[in-house]
Amino acid sequence: MIRTCISLIALFFATPLYAQEPPSNGFNAETILALKGLQLLDHRMNAIGYRLAAANTPYCTGKTAQTGLLLHAIDQYPDQAVARFALGFDGPVAINAVAPNSPGATAGLLPGDDILAIDGIKVEDIPLDDPAVASERANYRRIAAVNKRLEDALSQSDAALDILRGGAQTQVVVKSRPACPSRFQIEVSKDRGASANGKIVSVTSKMAEYFLTDDEFAAVVAHELAHNLLKHRNQLDAQGVNRGFFGQLGKSAGRIKSAEIEADRLSVWLMANAGYDPQAAVRFWTRYGKEHGKGIFSASTHYRWKKRVKLFEEEIAKMAAIGTVDGKYAPPLLIEAD
Ligand SMILES: [Zn+2]
Repeated sequence: MIRTCISLIALFFATPLYAQEPPSNGFNAETILALKGLQLLDHRMNAIGYRLAAANTPYCTGKTAQTGLLLHAIDQYPDQAVARFALGFDGPVAINAVAPNSPGATAGLLPGDDILAIDGIKVEDIPLDDPAVASERANYRRIAAVNKRLEDALSQSDAALDILRGGAQTQVVVKSRPACPSRFQIEVSKDRGASANGKIVSVTSKMAEYFLTDDEFAAVVAHELAHNLLKHRNQLDAQGVNRGFFGQLGKSAGRIKSAEIEADRLSVWLMANAGYDPQAAVRFWTRYGKEHGKGIFSASTHYRWKKRVKLFEEEIAKMAAIGTVDGKYAPPLLIEAD
């Protein structure tokens, strides 16, 4: 018996898996898997962000047309040959993700579709010297220009997209449907974090691996979206608040902390309106807090996790007391700001 085992092992080592058929494309499998893994996170982030932005539309100011499409450009990827192979680019710009129940999904668009033109303007011909785009890093200018062109088109009416799928060219019409403003993206980083700059909500790839469910993921996205909807970035800038290291001291710290409390309070209303379980905010921050203490957040600008959890519970009780109108909870922080 022992003899058979030994001979089997010898046989196994004698014929390595790729002895006859080495990989033919020359790409590193780990790089391909990393790109596909990142795309999976982008899909989840895009779906969750769109759902929160669309479901809370009645309460937002500054609404913008949201397609539910996350686009990407080949220039964003350091190794373009691997990106073409792994993500299926044929041209310079393609669809990375399509949020369920969004105008992009209704139009029948799919991840991997190449975008050839928007309202007849070829993506190659969209100028990169627009001031709104020129400030971007060089490899992000193309995607910024295409996103802006699509936003501009949809701010007028529906937009016609020429796409390429499986070698065949076709045209689809994406409906202009207003929703809460903000774009949603995964930021590749070894650090856990999430941020909101007034226009974009970012969650780091390292942070995303901490979520057990989409409801937990939504808790963090909703907190950051709340910062954008409450225009905290503009307010803090107008008050001359220093958000850097010195912002953790004195008056700036107090103003940042009150913005954080507002974002926590609003987040659970946004979640409930989008059909996410607001208790996931309690569960996530309890687990995270127990494992990390104050974790990624500074003590002088953020409540410790037990106090944050208490805020969520107070707001969830408020929602239960107020109840819904047309299936939605009207968030007091957005109603008052209106
Ligand atoms: Zn915050």
